[in-house]
Amino acid sequence: MHKFNYDINEKKLTPEAKPKPTIQPMDITSESLQRLDKIMSSSKTSPDKKDKLIKAITGYCCTCGSIATKIATYKMNDATLIEKYCDACLARGIS
Ligand SMILES: [Zn+2]
Repeated sequence: MHKFNYDINEKKLTPEAKPKPTIQPMDITSESLQRLDKIMSSSKTSPDKKDKLIKAITGYCCTCGSIATKIATYKMNDATLIEKYCDACLARGIS
């Protein structure tokens, strides 16, 4: 007796690389953020100085590279992954 096992197991496991993140606002006042924004759009400030400022204050959005305003925390099994996002990218949704 043959037993045919038609195992239609076509579940394409989309690798769930990241769990759902916890989104927290950056620890920065909106005034500071506005000031930073103004500095960023100023042509008087050198790109090097802007870069240093951003890195020191908020960091860059990991998706588009603009000023990050939110921190996404992914609780992994044995680690916590932290990524920074801007408002625009968060509104679009993190994929
Ligand atoms: Zn962004």
